[in-house]
Amino acid sequence: MTLQLAEIFYSVQGEGTWTGTPAVFVRLAGCNLACDFCDTDYALKFVAGIGEVVARVRGEGGDCPMVILTGGEPLAQAATPALIDALRADGRRVHIESNGTIDVSLPSDVWLTVSPKERLHPAMAARANEVKLIVDGRVPAAWVASFPATTPIFLQPEGNKPANVALAVEAAKREPARYRLSLQTHKFIGVR
Ligand code: SF4
Repeated sequence: MTLQLAEIFYSVQGEGTWTGTPAVFVRLAGCNLACDFCDTDYALKFVAGIGEVVARVRGEGGDCPMVILTGGEPLAQAATPALIDALRADGRRVHIESNGTIDVSLPSDVWLTVSPKERLHPAMAARANEVKLIVDGRVPAAWVASFPATTPIFLQPEGNKPANVALAVEAAKREPARYRLSLQTHKFIGVR
């Protein structure tokens, strides 16, 4: 089985619950959506077998426990579940950053971050460990009711822009039991 990939690199998680935690990022190529505001380069750069990806992760991050599968949409590729299993067998804790549209059964120790875009699969909403809502001129509050009340919802100001930060902080202060603020901290320190 092969995977289509955009990049693999070692950095620090800048967002959400695991902010500040070193992690190897595996960006899979391609997405099943085509959001007009998308600024992620998920174009296909190379193809690799599962064993090659596991080896690249080790080559980049050594024994780093955390691996983040991102995209594009990492759950859009048929080989992704096998990659998750292979990374877990190599001692990694696998995190997934998904748009939540594709229902894929995940092992219970996989951390799932869902950032909803134009639609959302209810099973993935129920499975999410955390939610990331991008605040760009408004808080997209319509998504909130789709998630269980106990799932943390991070408001992430687009581009760390002051107006978006202010909107997110206001919303979090108004509903402190529901929202948390997530800043893209990796951008403050100049890492990807
Ligand atoms: S779901 Fe995410 S990666 Fe895919 S097109 Fe939309 S913003 Fe870009």
